[in-house]
Amino acid sequence: MELNGLRVAIIGAGYAGASTAKALSLLGADVTVYEQATQAGEVGAGIGLRPSSMAAFREWGIDGAIEAVSSASHGLRIITPQGQLIHAEEWPEKDVFGTTTHFIHRRDFIDALLGVLPEGMVRFGHRLVDIVDHGTTATVTFENGTSVEADLVIGADGISSRVRRAFFSDKAPVFAGEHAYRAVFDIDLVPGVFEDDNDFHIYFDAPTNRHLYLLPLKHRGQVSFDITVPSDDATWSPEVTREQLVASMDGFDERFQEVTRTIALDAINCRSAHDIDSVDRWHTDSVVLIGDAAHAMLHHQGQGANSAVLDAKGLAEALRDADSVAAGLAAFQAARKPITDEYQRISRGGWDGDNLEDGFPGQHGDSAKVEA
Ligand SMILES: Cc1cc2nc3c(=O)[nH]c(=O)nc-3n(C[C@H](O)[C@H](O)[C@H](O)COP(=O)(O)OP(=O)(O)OC[C@H]3O[C@@H](n4cnc5c(N)ncnc54)[C@H](O)[C@@H]3O)c2cc1C
Repeated sequence: MELNGLRVAIIGAGYAGASTAKALSLLGADVTVYEQATQAGEVGAGIGLRPSSMAAFREWGIDGAIEAVSSASHGLRIITPQGQLIHAEEWPEKDVFGTTTHFIHRRDFIDALLGVLPEGMVRFGHRLVDIVDHGTTATVTFENGTSVEADLVIGADGISSRVRRAFFSDKAPVFAGEHAYRAVFDIDLVPGVFEDDNDFHIYFDAPTNRHLYLLPLKHRGQVSFDITVPSDDATWSPEVTREQLVASMDGFDERFQEVTRTIALDAINCRSAHDIDSVDRWHTDSVVLIGDAAHAMLHHQGQGANSAVLDAKGLAEALRDADSVAAGLAAFQAARKPITDEYQRISRGGWDGDNLEDGFPGQHGDSAKVEA
């Protein structure tokens, strides 16, 4: 399908919205992104961009912008709380995509994505409050009183998506019974931990189901941690006390305990972990969900951000190859939903203490083939 001039309104300027804006504008679509925040902003933590995402950036000609603010990684290690290596593995699909996983700070990632979009494509201060589907077009209305009609409205508005609630599912996000404490700190505070590798370290205490995800950001001289612990408190952004933080690393390597004793509490982002149940249908003929809006998943497989990027690539290709927007949206769902359904399922399952010999369940089988 010729995308030249297709009027596309994307709701949300997160990873999914920004990536999709890039992919569709390269095909000639007339894209505008509407973001509720008044400016770009992201909480401080690191994420891993998998080979498939890096390959998408290369295809869009923006790999240089991403690589400039990230560092290449070899693989991951699963380790006991006291530092005994259980399992080490290279990132899958390096050979398929000819590149490896890159670690990046969340803020650098969104800045890089927004930085490669044409001036004026993103409109901040636009909070979607209403959406009407007319069949082959849809109209979106924002809190600031403006309305826009588009040939395609893309709901990239995250886990609490208003677009999803309007058409596709009114189910609330599901609490996982866990809190995640996240922060970035100086790599010198964990001397020796990343001396001879740039791998993702997963320290897992199976009996208490506590995880420490440690991700090096060597290009920034920093490390990002994510401590995930069981909790009954489903408050969206709970406060974490020093006692809770210190207790979360009780029995772990002394260097990690020391970080929890000394790090400034206001540097910690604390979130209760939520995902959503699989959504049966992601689209009408002129409205579609992508990213967390379509398939928010728990962070245990580190696939949320990657899935957002791969949705962007998948949606652009499906529209390009289809005869109509409606057919393109159906093809997009058919290609992507089996993969994200599987990631949602595996991520919800968490880590199995009796089976830690495969860091990437679901990425060596059919889903990896589909993704390739
Ligand atoms: C602290 C934290 C750490 C994480 N760590 C990892 C990780 O290590 N690896 C990984 O793969 N994933 C991680 N994730 C998950 C990953 O960040 C998400 O999967 C990813 O951000 C999804 O991107 P998205 O663009 O779909 O949604 P979001 O990033 O949530 O973006 C949605 C955007 O839509 C905007 N919006 C919402 N409602 C409206 C509205 N009504 N009108 C206009 N705009 C609206 C929001 O302001 C936001 O900018 C983490 C998530 C969090 C919160």
